[in-house]
Amino acid sequence: MRKVAIYGKGGIGKSTTTQNTVAGLAEMGRKVMVVGCDPKADSTRLLLGGLAQKSVLDTLREEGEDVELDDIRKPSFGGSWSVESGGPEPGVGCAGRGIITSINMLEALGAYDEREGLDYAFYDVLGDVVCGGFAMPIRDGKAEEIYIVCSGEMMAMYAANNICKGIMKYAQSGSVRLGGLICNSRNVDNEREMIIELAKRLGTQMIYFVPRHNDVQRAEINRKTVIEWQPDCSQADEYRGLAKAIDDNKMFVVPKPLAIEELEQLLLDYGLLAA
Ligand code: ATP
Ligand code: MG
Repeated sequence: MRKVAIYGKGGIGKSTTTQNTVAGLAEMGRKVMVVGCDPKADSTRLLLGGLAQKSVLDTLREEGEDVELDDIRKPSFGGSWSVESGGPEPGVGCAGRGIITSINMLEALGAYDEREGLDYAFYDVLGDVVCGGFAMPIRDGKAEEIYIVCSGEMMAMYAANNICKGIMKYAQSGSVRLGGLICNSRNVDNEREMIIELAKRLGTQMIYFVPRHNDVQRAEINRKTVIEWQPDCSQADEYRGLAKAIDDNKMFVVPKPLAIEELEQLLLDYGLLAA
């Protein structure tokens, strides 16, 4: 089973990209479990056709330890499973620890056992690794294969570089590796070339370029992934392409983060800061 985590700057499109990609993998016949690691619990809405009723942490709080797998894992699009970890009450406790609690609970209940036949577990992780809590899935070896969602916007690239610092740190003692950058386009000038170059300098690859398209939002309003909502539209094919690229990926590296000056120079070279 491949253990994949999706990181990236807040609002960059992690949850949307994860679910649309998982729909593509499900269509290819892969068995996937998605574990939302965001207290907002919005990581599985499109796969479930609406928000999940209850998170793992809420279930634990209300029902104690006497929990069954089907209380926390819901069947979702294309034979996938969807789980929302949930979070501590706002302002209290560490959300990262909550994630580990729910992953441990899933393990104890056998969600990852051989007989479940999972090809992938996908973790949709909130924000970047600045807070140690959110690095926990990496630190504890729960996630081994990381994809970073970014765009040609400076702060998204800055966050991607920071996440690489986190991965590098944990890669030294563990098995976590970077699988690539997913460029979720914001229609920035020279975006594709710039992210290809950023990826190269980080020692990785741009695994896919996802165009920006309003069909993503149209599907979202209908509480569906693009593949479920309009299987024949061009954006559905883009997510199939991303799913296949991940499924075929063989490039797993320990990234080499850039110095801030180097990152700024890259932006200059590609004309963004000069504009
Ligand atoms: P957070 O950090 O808050 O969890 P996120 O990184 O998970 O955010 P999303 O919630 O997935 O981001 O995406 C934010 C918005 O961007 C969504 O409303 C989504 O519809 C839109 N979006 C994402 N990708 C695309 C795309 N390729 N084309 C058009 N809209 C997109
Ligand atoms: Mg999200």
